[in-house]
Amino acid sequence: KPVIGVLALQGDVREHVAALEAAGARPVAVRRPTELAALDGLVIPGGESTTIDKLLRIFELFDPLRAAIAAGLPVYGSCAGMILLADRVLGATHDQQTLGGLDVTVRRNAFGRQVDSFESSVEMVGVPGGPVPAAFIRAPWVEEAGPAVQVLARTRHRGAGAPEPSTGTGDVAGRIVAVRQGTLLATSFHPEITGDARVHELFVAIVKE
Ligand code: GLN
Repeated sequence: KPVIGVLALQGDVREHVAALEAAGARPVAVRRPTELAALDGLVIPGGESTTIDKLLRIFELFDPLRAAIAAGLPVYGSCAGMILLADRVLGATHDQQTLGGLDVTVRRNAFGRQVDSFESSVEMVGVPGGPVPAAFIRAPWVEEAGPAVQVLARTRHRGAGAPEPSTGTGDVAGRIVAVRQGTLLATSFHPEITGDARVHELFVAIVKE
């Protein structure tokens, strides 16, 4: 079984651990730089990307993790995790840094404020068996993706269960919400809180490749 870490600085670590177990991996919580070497892959959970960024630096994980990603460590980032994997962020705080690796521009809180969190489902490339239930919690979207980035999922189009447009960031239908670039996978949404492990199964398959 591949050993897949779950970054355990902030966020819903337990849910990712459960989803990884269901997907056939051996999950381990990660808080120290020395724990990175033993990993076949890593999940960065949702939470607050600014806080996770600060904690990564406090726990002296920022540079080692950035180096591990650059060296090819497979990483799956959900929500705040997607932001941390993005090369460029719109709506970042002035001192916010990302680990980078994904040639995308993400927009933080793109779907609106906390009250604009919503559940939907998305068709996702590489995930057989029908739409994936997806919880969007103050979620980002991918505003621009470079040529090496594969778009795996978009929000539904209007009239097909799409959420209503919310704030000033534009139409919420048809937005890019899941991407892959090499061994990096990212989703705007949280699949780990819906009891459906298929996105984690896709990540485990990427780790095994
Ligand atoms: N809005 C958060 C951020 O900008 C992400 C929310 C989440 O991870 N659920 O970091």
